[in-house]
Amino acid sequence: MSPNAPDVAIVGGGIAGCAVAALLAEDGARVRVYERDHVAAGASGRNSGLLQHPLDEALTGVYETSLALYRELGDGFALPAEPAGVLVVGEDAGVLEPVRAEVAARFPELRPEALDAAAVRAAEPCLAEGLAGYRLDTGRPVPPAAATRAFAARARAAGAELLEGAAATPVVAGGRATRVRTAAGEAPAGAVVVAAGPWTPALVDPTGEWRPIAPAWGVVAEVQLAQPPRHAIEEGGVEALLSPDGAPGLLFSLVTREGASVVGSTFSPDEPDATELAPALVRRGARFVPALADTPVASVRACARPMSADGRPLLGPLPGVEGLFVAAGHGPWGVTLGPGSARLVADAVLGRSPAIAPELDAARFGQATPA
Ligand SMILES: Cc1cc2nc3c(=O)[nH]c(=O)nc-3n(C[C@H](O)[C@H](O)[C@H](O)COP(=O)(O)OP(=O)(O)OC[C@H]3O[C@@H](n4cnc5c(N)ncnc54)[C@H](O)[C@@H]3O)c2cc1C
Repeated sequence: MSPNAPDVAIVGGGIAGCAVAALLAEDGARVRVYERDHVAAGASGRNSGLLQHPLDEALTGVYETSLALYRELGDGFALPAEPAGVLVVGEDAGVLEPVRAEVAARFPELRPEALDAAAVRAAEPCLAEGLAGYRLDTGRPVPPAAATRAFAARARAAGAELLEGAAATPVVAGGRATRVRTAAGEAPAGAVVVAAGPWTPALVDPTGEWRPIAPAWGVVAEVQLAQPPRHAIEEGGVEALLSPDGAPGLLFSLVTREGASVVGSTFSPDEPDATELAPALVRRGARFVPALADTPVASVRACARPMSADGRPLLGPLPGVEGLFVAAGHGPWGVTLGPGSARLVADAVLGRSPAIAPELDAARFGQATPA
């Protein structure tokens, strides 16, 4: 390998790739990131912008590490000191209550508080009459692309090279990832980390056999409500849409930061026409926040969640190929969890212990067949 070859090549300049790059470079590794478009071009720059508890014990540690990294991130990123609170609402209290009770039993620190229709309206006067709900003590709104850009800036400051407009594919020879292939030719690397969101499986296994991550496309619309809510608001029922057999659909959410609100969202396997879907999003939202019916949409965007088959990210080395690592599959909570996952993957690349927990280990979906 040439003395200028990076120790680590990272494919993908989203939150996962940029955070791994920053942590590795700050630990002294020579790092090169390949991003086919531009930093934060995927979901990492186009999401709803809420950092929220993942409601999964297997991910609580990753979430806490993420928050710790966000507290000290800098580079234009500021973590809100206190959560805004998430208000989960629905038309049928009987459907919401068992979910609330389960969250209360598993995560009492979120203080899930049941609210009747009057309490829902008192908490957020913009909500429609007659809704039931519960409040969770989590949810910090941040600008959608800020975290990814800040990690990219930290990676550059620590000496990492970020190549934009550079699509790359890992190349395996003799059971080892030794280089990446780009339009400019092949570039050697000591290790390759694939952090390419929903496009990760196709890069890792071109045979099509290994497919533990699939896209769930979401459309969101930005609006400026005259009386925006303080809480993030979510329609109850997202669990069904996120389960592997969940039907494609549409579920209301509203995240507000500095007076601007993001209305979400759809869940579909194919890339939607964002402009075409926006009116349906707003119509659905108006059932919960009536003022949405009369509020013009400022902009719309679509992006793909990298959904894993069991709802948890795939982190660390892939079995059967030395030097090939994955950081992908964060589904609806990649901005929230990306930095904590990146810490685990960077430590794995550097050969540090402890090992990645089996429920997050990329190896749990078996062996891939790389190019
Ligand atoms: C509508 C919506 C709202 C969301 N809201 C939230 C939220 O409020 N909070 C939250 O925590 N999460 C949210 N998410 C989820 C979050 O956005 C994702 O989980 C996260 O951004 C995934 O990050 P990533 O780095 O894994 O992938 P991506 O952001 O998709 O990045 C992958 C990158 O890889 C690049 N790439 C692909 N192939 C190649 C190649 N061959 N060579 C080089 N580069 C390549 C792509 O261009 C892309 O930039 C939301 C998602 C959606 C769809």
